[in-house]
Amino acid sequence: MTNKQAFSEAKNFIPGGVNSPVRAFGSVGGEPVIIDSGKGAYIYDIEGKKYLDFIQSWGPLIFGHCDEDIQNAVINAAKKGLSFGAPTLAETTLAKMICEKFENIDKIRFVSSGTEATMSAIRVARGYSKKDGLIKFEGCYHGHSDALLIKAGSGATTYGNASSGGVPQEVVKNTYLAIYNDISSVEAIFENNKDKIGVVIIEPIAGNMGLVPADKEFLIALRALCDKFGAVLILDEVMSGFRASEFGSLPYHGVLADIVTFGKVIGGGMNAAAFGGKREIMDCLSPDGTVYQAGTLSGNPVAMSAGIIALGKINSNKNLYDKLENLARRLTDGFKSAANDAGVALHTDVRGSMFGYFFTDKAVKNYDDALKSDVKLFAKFHAAMLAKGVYLAPSQFETGFICEPMSEADIDFAVRAAREAFREIKA
Ligand SMILES: *Cc1c(COP(=O)(O)O)cnc(C)c1O
Repeated sequence: MTNKQAFSEAKNFIPGGVNSPVRAFGSVGGEPVIIDSGKGAYIYDIEGKKYLDFIQSWGPLIFGHCDEDIQNAVINAAKKGLSFGAPTLAETTLAKMICEKFENIDKIRFVSSGTEATMSAIRVARGYSKKDGLIKFEGCYHGHSDALLIKAGSGATTYGNASSGGVPQEVVKNTYLAIYNDISSVEAIFENNKDKIGVVIIEPIAGNMGLVPADKEFLIALRALCDKFGAVLILDEVMSGFRASEFGSLPYHGVLADIVTFGKVIGGGMNAAAFGGKREIMDCLSPDGTVYQAGTLSGNPVAMSAGIIALGKINSNKNLYDKLENLARRLTDGFKSAANDAGVALHTDVRGSMFGYFFTDKAVKNYDDALKSDVKLFAKFHAAMLAKGVYLAPSQFETGFICEPMSEADIDFAVRAAREAFREIKA
């Protein structure tokens, strides 16, 4: 079967042929290839074509595909049972590994997806602060729960409008939109809604509008505003956790959140995510407290085993993030110089193993800046790279990922492909 035939078959039975929209390649106007297998830094489609994979399952696979240690842990755990719906040693082991790493995380609860992690974090934050108002930032993605599905509105201080069908206006009426890296937009919301705002959620390194890191000064000021107005600060590190560094975004700003959410890397490729924070907040959760939160497969032993090995490998490999960051810089520097030589402006950024590149000559500080990128040129570049065997995220507004098995030679292969691609798309 060809990729085309398989995708057409998928579309008969699955909406859009995919189980998560970005996989459909809609924003680049192409069609996805159907993946058969992966090994290390590479994936193979059902036609046998090989690609250097810069998506890495959208972040989780920091050790690449089929890492032997993680794979063995999963196999061994699976042999003992797939799920019990009862306490196991593995969940406490992983919880302890994370709590001991972060001074602001006393307790943590596991869930199965990043969506659940942020949704539950907001519920416990509201339960603790006893205030319903929630500030989120334009361009930040926190999963697909109702109250968070709001994108750029016209003004930072207006009520949000749902950016998805099926989300009642009632549900988003407590969600306030602020502008990323613009502290005055946050201050205005706090000032205009005294005693209403109980929660602020932000990606400290935004990865879902392309890669847009928050300024250190901005996050410090955000922390101060939360303290002044009695709001719980949630740093959503579902993507940046164990990706930007072994401590996530923390070394870049030093701001301690009240709650941190994790996902992606902490499951080592399996379905695990989590939210954790200060004891007095986390103890509001049922069964100790009044805030209800639950999950049949939460803390699943197979997923926990994968996470334990992934975090264990991160802890024992002290040069890991330096290596990944060097490769990320080699790639973005290569892209940038290839683009410049072809007369294409590119803005690039790197945070540890995360990289981003915008088709614009301006700095990108927020969602509006990101939206000024040349998405048509991006689409052409993406298609050209795919044809050359380089698998990049099919949207200008996503982040790329380096994995441990990648070598300088792999990066140089991608840069050579980019050089050809830029020449072709400008011709
Ligand atoms: C991926 C992501 C989520 C959602 O996680 P899922 O596991 O896809 O539900 C939430 N927040 C951020 C920052 C993410 O990158």
